[in-house]
Amino acid sequence: MPILADRMSQLGTETAFEVLARANALAAAGKSIINLGIGQPDFKTPGHIVEAGIKAMRDGHHGYTPAAGIPQLREGVAADLKKRHGVEVDPNLIMIMPGGKPTMFFACLMFGQPGAEILYPNPGFPIYESSVKFSGATPVPYRLSEANGFAFSAEELLSKITRNTRLIILNSPANPTGGAVPKEEFDALVAGLADWPDVMVMSDEIYGQMLYDGRVHTTLLSYPEIRDRLILLDGWSKTYAMTGWRLGYSLWPKDIFGHAEKLAVNCHSCVNAPTQFAGLAALTGPQDAVHSMVKAFDERRRVIVSELNQIPGFRCVEPGGAFYAFPNIEGTGMTSKALQTKLLEEAGVAVIAGTSFGAYGEGYLRFSYANSTENIREAIQRIKACLS
Ligand code: PLP
Repeated sequence: MPILADRMSQLGTETAFEVLARANALAAAGKSIINLGIGQPDFKTPGHIVEAGIKAMRDGHHGYTPAAGIPQLREGVAADLKKRHGVEVDPNLIMIMPGGKPTMFFACLMFGQPGAEILYPNPGFPIYESSVKFSGATPVPYRLSEANGFAFSAEELLSKITRNTRLIILNSPANPTGGAVPKEEFDALVAGLADWPDVMVMSDEIYGQMLYDGRVHTTLLSYPEIRDRLILLDGWSKTYAMTGWRLGYSLWPKDIFGHAEKLAVNCHSCVNAPTQFAGLAALTGPQDAVHSMVKAFDERRRVIVSELNQIPGFRCVEPGGAFYAFPNIEGTGMTSKALQTKLLEEAGVAVIAGTSFGAYGEGYLRFSYANSTENIREAIQRIKACLS
């Protein structure tokens, strides 16, 4: 019998992939399925980005690249951050990564160990809690509540810091709630962190370009006072519809960068070379595809929120960013998991139970509106019929 390391029992997963597998199995058996479960754009990667990847292959970029990425791309990321946020960052502190996820895993491995505490949002992206537990650290959730538009309360978050806290994970705009944290809350958090100079911050800003109703993204990069303890996570998956390419990046503090690079060498050597050239084309080429995708998401957002609010037992606040709606379903009298199963099996609508994103997600469902307006409307009709 193989004897697994204890830590393997700590690893969680992402239910979205399980729901997707079940939805695919039902579809293969002939059932009509509308998938509002999966968190990826339903658009194709823009053509010029695909062409740049193909060209890189034809040009012979088949070998290893430096572990931190090709210099052009690291400089391209620095230029993009300057353009979007008006901040200077040193390209030498940027790591090109195989997606957004590895940065959270690396950060938790670097700062988590038994006795350490790591704060993370709940409901939140499930890989945070999973990575924290795997590291041996104690996961300390901070609540994102509907009453607060699913933004964190800086006061509450700061009250959870102890002398064992090593890392705080932030995510705005957020998965699964679509919540966008107002700047004042970030200001208050950063001001409070002055009392805790050893606490690191990992800011997951992967949905930073998906904001609605004139909201402006607050990047943690705009706070020079925490730059020496900020890990910024971002990437191409959502902004450029590139989830399957596996391309992301992170910015690390100077003293920490070498450790991230060493983890990369041990783990994946480098991101595949053609993908890095595609990523460079994404940053330096036309951005119209990004704008039209965000515009389409905004239109669908309005449709889905208004439709969800018409389902008896549902109540949905307006999400400020990303492409998720997170309605409260307590009025149906069902648990999140029971409703998730019922909607998939009986109505053919795939959505994700709020509890997949942490215990505070009970009473909610996550709807991804990365799907056509027609499909969204049809899904809501099916749900209404199923629940009536
Ligand atoms: N961060 C958040 C908040 C996400 O929702 C996701 C994907 O769903 C990721 C990171 C991971 O992105 P990637 O596919 O680039 O690893």
